[in-house]
Amino acid sequence: MKTEFIIAAAKAIQQSILANENTLESLDRAIGDGDHYINMKRGANAIADIAEELANFAPSDALNKIGLKLLSTIGGASGPLLASFFMAMAKTLASQTHKEYVLNENVEYSAADIAAGFAAGVQAIIQRGKANIGEKTMLDVLIPVANQFVLLATQNCEINPICTTLMQTAEQGVISTKDLIATKGRAAGLGERAIGHIDPGAKSCQLMIAAVCTLLMEA
Ligand code: ADP
Ligand code: MG
Repeated sequence: MKTEFIIAAAKAIQQSILANENTLESLDRAIGDGDHYINMKRGANAIADIAEELANFAPSDALNKIGLKLLSTIGGASGPLLASFFMAMAKTLASQTHKEYVLNENVEYSAADIAAGFAAGVQAIIQRGKANIGEKTMLDVLIPVANQFVLLATQNCEINPICTTLMQTAEQGVISTKDLIATKGRAAGLGERAIGHIDPGAKSCQLMIAAVCTLLMEA
C-alpha cells in the first residue's frame, strides 16, 4: 500500500459523503439530532485539506494522522469513534512493517494484514463506544464487514471478489439497522419509535466502504 492510495481513498470518501448530504441529513434528523452529515463533511474536508502533508508519511503514520485530525475536528459521538478506528488500524499496520520507510515507496502488506488492521479498528470502536452488533449503530455495518474481510483475505481470495462481497455485506448491515431498537447513542432514547429508520452512522460507514472498494476495483 502507498500513502498515495490512502489520500485517493480519502478524496473518494469525501466525494461520496458530499454527494449524500440529503440522505445522511434526513436519517439523523429522524432518529438523532440532524448533525451527522455536518460532522462527516467536516471530517472529510479536514482530511482532504491535509492531503499534501499526509503524502510525506508512511501509510501507517498517515492513518494515525487521519485519526488525530478526526478527533480534533468531528464533534458528536461519531468523531472519537472513527478516530479510534484509524489510530488502531495504524498501530496494527505499523506492527506489520519491518523496513524503514522510504518516501513514496510501496509498503508491502498482504490483504490479510490490511484486514487485520481493519478488524483492529473496528475492535477499537467497540471498546470506545461500549457497543456491539445489534444496537443500531455503525457497528452493524463494520462488524460483519470486518469478519468477512478477515475470512476472505485469509482464504487468499482475489481483491475484486473481496470488494464485491464487502460492499454487499455493508449494504445488508445498513438494512439490518432498520428494524432494530437503538440501545446506544442518541436514538436509544426513542425506544420503539426508532424502528423503521436506518441508522445514519451505519449508512455513512457503508458509503465509505463502497467508495474505497470501488476505488480498489478500478485500480
Ligand atoms: P451524535 O450522535 O453525537 O449527534 P453523529 O450524529 O455524528 O453524533 O453520529 C451518530 C452515529 O454514531 C449513530 O448513527 C451511530 O451509528 C453512531 N454511534 C453512536 N453511539 C455509538 C456507540 N456507542 N458505538 C458505536 N456507534 C455509535
Ligand atoms: Mg447526530
